[in-house]
Amino acid sequence: MPVDARALTLHRPRNLKAALAMLAEEPTLTPIAGCTDVMVGLHFGTSDQRRFIDLWPLDELRGIRMDKPKGLSPRTGLSPHLRIGALTTYAEIIASPIIRKRVPMLAAAAREIGGAQIQNRGTLGGNIANASPAGDALPVLAAAGARIVLRSTGGERRVHFSDFYTGYRTSVRQGDELITAIEIPEIEGRQWWRKVGTRRAQAISKIMMAGVNGRHVRIALGSVGPTVVLAEETARSLAAGGSLAAAQALLREEIAPIDDVRSTGAYRSQVAANLLAQFWKETHG
Ligand SMILES: Cc1cc2nc3c(=O)[nH]c(=O)nc-3n(C[C@H](O)[C@H](O)[C@H](O)COP(=O)(O)OP(=O)(O)OC[C@H]3O[C@@H](n4cnc5c(N)ncnc54)[C@H](O)[C@@H]3O)c2cc1C
Repeated sequence: MPVDARALTLHRPRNLKAALAMLAEEPTLTPIAGCTDVMVGLHFGTSDQRRFIDLWPLDELRGIRMDKPKGLSPRTGLSPHLRIGALTTYAEIIASPIIRKRVPMLAAAAREIGGAQIQNRGTLGGNIANASPAGDALPVLAAAGARIVLRSTGGERRVHFSDFYTGYRTSVRQGDELITAIEIPEIEGRQWWRKVGTRRAQAISKIMMAGVNGRHVRIALGSVGPTVVLAEETARSLAAGGSLAAAQALLREEIAPIDDVRSTGAYRSQVAANLLAQFWKETHG
């Protein structure tokens, strides 16, 4: 049964500073961005959250730009990166020339997320924080070697995407922290994305895979484990010149797909191996 809206409290901070102060005082407040995930829980009565903080007015969480950090050099390890504000919607990602040029696999994933309504409201930060293993943007960010920027009244910290999730729908984000941005370093090599669902669009993924084939090979999959899987052994084997069959065998060991309402573990395992073959064929040489 839908939750009675009269039982809900919504705070509307005017800027990021005010939002962080509210969260410091009440870390159990639930942030809402586009609300496309949160609303589903309220509609079906499966959510026990009643007190919310609306991030939509926070322009500090918007914008897509190249950042050149101070102290840039190979010695400091700092490099120029693409900064995508957490409130960036899929429609903005699809329309962004800089994303289409530098991270085409992210634009490709965004095009297959929901329909026009979801693309206009759903945000990249919301997809990450929601922490669903079926979040379509997550394999892309893992393959891209992205960093998540988290902010609280205590300051800012950066977490490598591969260290962000701690298990099924859990992450290192603390209750008083917001995701403010996603940073994507320069990606060298060909990028690849594929989502497999019941239909081509408007369907929750049965499995999806993002890959980069260049000086380094990076392969990440979604919906094949409690959280996004970065298939490091598989990628290492391919990069070292191992056979596709050997890499497929390694991939089957690195993923842990389960049977659920959308698919079976056996199907997902077979499709993962097929996707790997397709990725390698289309990006190699
Ligand atoms: C019809 C429909 C189709 C969909 N199709 C797809 C699909 O194809 N692929 C897919 O991956 N997803 C899909 N989704 C899910 C959803 O649209 C996405 O996950 C979207 O990116 C969520 O973003 P949002 O801004 O709406 O998040 P919200 O619903 O506002 O929030 C989601 C979660 O993230 C937290 N949160 C949001 N922003 C922040 C922040 N900046 N800092 C900290 N916490 C934050 C919230 O507290 C909440 O827990 C679909 C949803 C619907 C209803």
